[in-house]
Amino acid sequence: MEGSLERVLLSEEQIHARLAEMAAQIAADYEGKDLLLVGVLKGAVLVMADLMRAMPYSVRMDWMAVSSYGSGTKSSGVVRIIKDLDTDITDKHVLVVEDIIDSGLTLSWIRANLSSRKPASVEICALLRKPEVAKVAIDVKYIGFDIPNEFVVGYGLDYAEDYRNLRCIGTLSPSVYS
Ligand code: IMP
Ligand code: MG
Repeated sequence: MEGSLERVLLSEEQIHARLAEMAAQIAADYEGKDLLLVGVLKGAVLVMADLMRAMPYSVRMDWMAVSSYGSGTKSSGVVRIIKDLDTDITDKHVLVVEDIIDSGLTLSWIRANLSSRKPASVEICALLRKPEVAKVAIDVKYIGFDIPNEFVVGYGLDYAEDYRNLRCIGTLSPSVYS
C-alpha cells in the first residue's frame, strides 16, 4: 500500500501523539459532563478508535453516515443522511468526530442538523483541516493538523473506498489516478 503513496504527510506516530494531546484537552474540557462522541462514517472510524481510547474516563459513542462525496476527489455539494444516530441527544454534550474538513460543507450541515435536536452543546473535532475551510464560517474546537490543499488517503481516509487501512496519511502517486 505504501508503494501507492507519493509522499507521507503524517506518520502513525505523529497521528497518535497528536490524538493523545487532543484527548487530554477534550477530557479536561468535558470532565463531569454528559459527553457523547458522534463519529461520521466511515472516515472517522480510526480517529474515534484512537481518540476515545486515549481518554481517561468512560465516554460514549454514536455514529452518523452522510454522503458528501462520490467516488472521486471533489465535493459533490450534496449532503444527505444515510444512517442517523441511535441516541437521543437532548441535553447531551455532543462532540462530532471527523477525519477531515475540506470545504466544511459536510460539517456545517451536520452541526445545524444536530443543533436542531436541542443538545446541551455541539462542538467539532477533526484530525485534519484543509485551507479551503477558511471560506465558510465554521467553528472547529479541536483540530489535529492543518494540511495543504492536496488529496490525502490513509488512517480512515479513502480514495474510492481504498487505502482506509493505511497506518499513515499521505498523498497518492499520480499513477493511481490514471
Ligand atoms: P467537506 O464537506 O468538503 O468538508 O468534505 C468532508 C468529507 O470529504 C470528509 O469527511 C471526507 O470523507 C472527504 N474528503 C475531503 N478531503 C478528502 C481527502 O483529501 N481525502 C479523502 N477524503 C476527503
Ligand atoms: Mg470519504
